[in-house]
Amino acid sequence: MPGMEVYGDEERKEVMDVLETGALFRYGHEHLRKGMWKAAEFEEEVKKYTGAKFAHGVSSGSTAVSSIMAGAGIGYGDEVIVPPFTFVAPIEGVFLAGALPVFGELDESLCLSAEGIEKAVTPNTKAVLLVHMCGTAADIDGILEVCKKHNLVLLEDCGQAMGAFYKGRSVGLYGRAGAFSFDYFKIATCGEGGVVITDDEKIYHDMEQFSDHGHTHIGDNRGMEEHHIMGFNFRMSELSAAIGLAQMRKVPMQREALKKNKAILTERLSEIGGITFRKYSDPDGDSGTFLNFFMPTAKQTEKVFEEFSKNGVGGAAYWFKNMYHFINQWNQIKEMKFPAKLAIHELGAPQDYKNLELPKSQDVMSRLVSMGMQVKWTEDEVNKLADNIIKSIKAVI
Ligand SMILES: *Cc1c(COP(=O)(O)O)cnc(C)c1O
Repeated sequence: MPGMEVYGDEERKEVMDVLETGALFRYGHEHLRKGMWKAAEFEEEVKKYTGAKFAHGVSSGSTAVSSIMAGAGIGYGDEVIVPPFTFVAPIEGVFLAGALPVFGELDESLCLSAEGIEKAVTPNTKAVLLVHMCGTAADIDGILEVCKKHNLVLLEDCGQAMGAFYKGRSVGLYGRAGAFSFDYFKIATCGEGGVVITDDEKIYHDMEQFSDHGHTHIGDNRGMEEHHIMGFNFRMSELSAAIGLAQMRKVPMQREALKKNKAILTERLSEIGGITFRKYSDPDGDSGTFLNFFMPTAKQTEKVFEEFSKNGVGGAAYWFKNMYHFINQWNQIKEMKFPAKLAIHELGAPQDYKNLELPKSQDVMSRLVSMGMQVKWTEDEVNKLADNIIKSIKAVI
């Protein structure tokens, strides 16, 4: 994802502001900071873009996931339904919270489906940690219905979905809270960073306190104020926030360019038969960061990647082991290998992760071709890429 593509003078200016004052810490130190509060400004920018009532910057997308879980009160022994296709961070977050991941089935939306969630529900299920994969919202209405029916907390991992909307509203605002990543590979990056959003004031305060040792941030006596909850240090530094702020302002421009390039590719690829596209719950809400389509069979998918290498086409083969985002490659989880004892070792795994069969997800993933879009491609470059993709597909089907 392309935040790194557009890094430039704006980011440097914001960072220099911080370096000139030396106020590297996000709280206090008013005598140094010449009125500059980069983390707070970053959060304002996130609120403005997403429409959230509350936003809080943290140190990573992973700590953002831990913060939303803590904010929603999900912890020891709770079963949390998770997808088998995701960057592995949310699964780790569930384990670290002392909760137990239960893998549900995804569908052609590349996200957990309402049906997949419903089939994974047990009497111990407390929450669904939905991941909006590859820049697009899952089937939120269907999923909300299942959550309501079974009284489950919906949490949203929007690690790859800044700029993704559903029915005019940003992802991250449909569940109790949403977690976003600003790591180096995301549409907006500050090297390492994250943000949580919510419309719920109580959860917001729990999250901002949890991510800073339980400090309440009320008054001017840091460290001596009352602590209502325990927490940890997941703070965002002013330097990261400064870069994140400049990057946030570039999201609308990037989104437009990405969607334009993706539309050209989609139109060109639609002209050839045989392939099908990812299912969109709201096509207009797509962030444009990825193009995803399916080959008819797994064998043809494997072959098309061979053709891609001959024809200079990139692309992620999540099933065929060049990307680490599907459960078939998570041996450390299948074997439950951790450096220390976790709740799951005591309570037992709710599923046999090692021998788990998810036929629908396996079928979808084995036929998936996924490509990251770029902001700075020219129209000629996009058309050349389309030619090469089409040539590769035609050699196979
Ligand atoms: C990147 C990502 C994360 C983790 O973010 P970090 O900032 O790298 O910790 C979490 N979830 C998803 C879906 C991601 O893609």
